[in-house]
Order: sequence, then C-alpha cells, then structure tokens
Amino acid sequence: MKINPQKCVACGNCTYVCPMGAIYIDPELKRATINRDECVECYACYNGLSKEVLPPATVRFVRRTLANFRIRFEPEPDVCPTTAFEPDKLEWPRVVRRAFSDPRVPHESTGVSGRGTEEVKTNDVSGRVKVGEVGFTIEFGRPGVGVWFTDIQKMSWAMAKAGVSFEKKNPVTSLMSDVATGTLREDILGEKVMSAILEIKTTVDRTEEIIRLVREVEKDLDTVVSIGVGTRCDENGEENVVAPILERLGYKLERAKTNIGLGKVTNTEEPAAKEQPVPAMR
Ligand code: SF4
Ligand code: SF4
Repeated sequence: MKINPQKCVACGNCTYVCPMGAIYIDPELKRATINRDECVECYACYNGLSKEVLPPATVRFVRRTLANFRIRFEPEPDVCPTTAFEPDKLEWPRVVRRAFSDPRVPHESTGVSGRGTEEVKTNDVSGRVKVGEVGFTIEFGRPGVGVWFTDIQKMSWAMAKAGVSFEKKNPVTSLMSDVATGTLREDILGEKVMSAILEIKTTVDRTEEIIRLVREVEKDLDTVVSIGVGTRCDENGEENVVAPILERLGYKLERAKTNIGLGKVTNTEEPAAKEQPVPAMR
C-alpha cells in the first residue's frame, strides 16, 4: 500500500484505522507515511475509509488559514478527504502478506479466505482428525502484533522434530520447502502477516507433550500464540480422553465448535471414521 504524498493532507484519519500501527505522520514530510516493514497489506486503510476527492491544495490552504485563527478543519473521521491511498501491485513474495492478512482474499493453495484453512470445523466431511487422534491449530499473531515467518518456522521446526504430521490443506504447509523438517521457503522468511495458523495432528496420548512443546517454543517468539485442540466425541457426544488432559494442564474448557455429523464425507482419501459419528472441536 502507498500513500500519494501529492494528495495527502496529513489529516491523520488513516493512522487510526491501520490495525498494525504502520501509518504515521512524518514530521518532516508533513504527510502520512507507511512503514513498509510493518504493513501487512491488509487493505483496511484502503477499504475502511470513505474516499472523497477534495483538491489537496485547497484543503491544505483552508487548514493552514483556519489554523491561524486557532480553528481546526478536520474531515469526518472515517474519510480520506483526498483519496490518497494507492494499492501497490504486489509481487511475490510480498503478495503473501495480503493473502494472510486481508480476510477477503482466498489463499491460492486452498481456495479458502481468511487464514486459508477450515481447521477441524469441517471434520464431519473432511475426516481430518480420526478416532484416537488429536488435531492442533497453532495460531500466531493478531491485529496490532502480526507475525514474521521466521517465527512461524521456529514452531514448525520444533513440531517436525517431534514427529507430528502437518495438515496438507493448509497455507503454511503449502509454503514449506521441506515438510519433513518443517522448513519454510527461504524467500518468504522476510515477510510479516497479520496472523497465520499451523495445523498438525498426532495421537491423543501425545496431547500433553505437544502442548508443553508449543508453550516452550512460544517463549522464543516475538508474537502471541493461541492453541486450539480438536478431537472426536464418543457415541454419546462426550469426550473423556483429551478433556481431562487439558483440564490437568490448567485449561478451563469450553466446547467451541461442534460438528453433529450430518455432512457427507467428501474426503475420499481420508474418510471419516464410522465408529464414532459425532466429531467435535474443543
Ligand atoms: S486519511 Fe488521507 S489525507 Fe488524511 S492523513 Fe491519511 S492519507 Fe493523508
Ligand atoms: S494495508 Fe493494512 S497494514 Fe498496510 S498501511 Fe494499510 S491498514 Fe496498515
């Protein structure tokens, strides 16, 4: 994203809409400026502000003149008065930033918008997590924080070393040059995104080990990490294997999303298990 300095009148409206705090008023230029390292190409500034096409020279003149009388001329707070934002034509690898940060853009690898994955939300049709297995979503970043791929790689390295399997239909997995070691493509390591999700699964008996490992690696990351755990309920809709482990680790459990098993299995490679037809996610 770019701000055209010929058009910007330094009203400052855009500095409040950037979720990454990447826009600032440059005191020397007296124009809004984007910190390219911190900008994750989410388009919130471009899409979030209404656009007016007031002539920049006139707006500057009016603002300067009124300032002499200690009167401020400010546009409405949700408006860029001079339509100064100009989206860049994003090339590889910078385009990765937008794919992970603008929720309206579908990921090329999965066709899914947002972070590009449905996790186990669709487990009743995808059958990703089977009986005896536990799926984890390790989510990095948030608005205001973001995450660099170098930090994601520290986690994927640790998970690969622990011998878990990465979900194939996941955008982070699709950016690995070596899935066996969890190594990401070299050319994206200098990119920052709003947030991303690493998806893994393993057997239920390794639940505690993996959570402890995530906690350990997280200490070395310059971002925030959330972990989601998905597993299958028994025939009564209960889950008494993974839940006690999570409670022992200090988590207060809420059942977040539940699949009730009405979907038609579409994943022919990995059909949903028939023994326990009520998959759920915690
Ligand atoms: S909202 Fe538009 S005119 Fe105002 S500071 Fe931002 S880019 Fe400049
Ligand atoms: S594209 Fe997003 S991150 Fe970049 S300057 Fe605009 S709002 Fe901020």
